[in-house]
Amino acid sequence: MDKKKSHHISDILSAGKQTFSFEFFPPRTAESSEQLLQSIKQLSFLNPSFASVTYGAGGTTRELTHELVVKLQHEVGFSIVAHLTCVGSSKDEIKNVLQKYQDNNIQNIMALRGDPPKGSSNFIQTANGFGYADELVEFIKFNFPKMGIGVAGFPEGHPESIDKRKEIYYLKEKVDAGADYICTQLFFDNNAFHNFREMCEKENIKIPIIAGIMPITTRKGMERMSELAKGATYPSKLINAVNNSADDSEVEKIGTDWATNQVMELIENKVAGVHFYTLNRSKATLQIFKSLNLNSN
Ligand SMILES: Cc1cc2nc3c(=O)[nH]c(=O)nc-3n(C[C@H](O)[C@H](O)[C@H](O)COP(=O)(O)OP(=O)(O)OC[C@H]3O[C@@H](n4cnc5c(N)ncnc54)[C@H](O)[C@@H]3O)c2cc1C
Repeated sequence: MDKKKSHHISDILSAGKQTFSFEFFPPRTAESSEQLLQSIKQLSFLNPSFASVTYGAGGTTRELTHELVVKLQHEVGFSIVAHLTCVGSSKDEIKNVLQKYQDNNIQNIMALRGDPPKGSSNFIQTANGFGYADELVEFIKFNFPKMGIGVAGFPEGHPESIDKRKEIYYLKEKVDAGADYICTQLFFDNNAFHNFREMCEKENIKIPIIAGIMPITTRKGMERMSELAKGATYPSKLINAVNNSADDSEVEKIGTDWATNQVMELIENKVAGVHFYTLNRSKATLQIFKSLNLNSN
């Protein structure tokens, strides 16, 4: 039984208010499940515009992603975006995944190509699969025309791309294939976002661009993130502050303050929305909402 009617992200965005949304990943252990449940409980009080659930590298969390997506929409009452990648799946397999989402009234997909396997720099297209995300967008639009579709954008450039202009041209192909909005890779320097938005405008990309923000909370997390979010760089001022900090509680304060300032500046510059990479934790996001007196929906 649905607690709340699910919405298309495009409808939420076109209502004109800046959106605030959260990203979660499917937990793999009982302990991390508990941690996520606690975070969701806390974050649900913030009444997010929507939440999204990632799809593990190489499609490794297909079932877990599905489980969490359905739970968040039907039990918690969030409007949900399910991430989906082309890695290791044929068109038929992807069609089955999409059909299951449609049957469960999940109305939004984040359509992604996915990364090459660890240790390899080349993405390998699965037999009868997709080579790039725009093909997945087109496939969803054709087979599941009622699905809302988000796509990824990279303010500092995608790591495989050597020509930023061309990259924006390829992004436009995803938009023309039917994407409703763009959500960006995380970034720590707002200038990267503003330049990216300007390049998109010049390429006649008119759909909303949501900014991805991740508050740093530990030194280890910061190192791990530079491996995962390839292409996102840390400004030297932030690196120096973290290097000079005594412990992780100081890192958490530095990271949260940094993200708070980023969000404040983005709001002032009329960003369509801010998407928080929560890493299944709530403290930093709660603090940012409190400091800025943010209000979703
Ligand atoms: C908001 C967000 C959420 C994400 N969520 C997940 C997730 O849940 N699970 C996961 O595994 N990964 C996730 N990723 C990572 C993403 O899968 C990788 O960054 C991947 O390498 C690129 O995906 P894409 O959809 O941008 O690919 P594409 O848009 O296909 O682009 C991939 C590369 O190919 C280039 N390109 C595109 N079209 C063409 C063309 N026609 N000819 C030549 N080159 C082309 C692009 O410029 C780019 O360099 C996420 C990224 C972001 C920003």
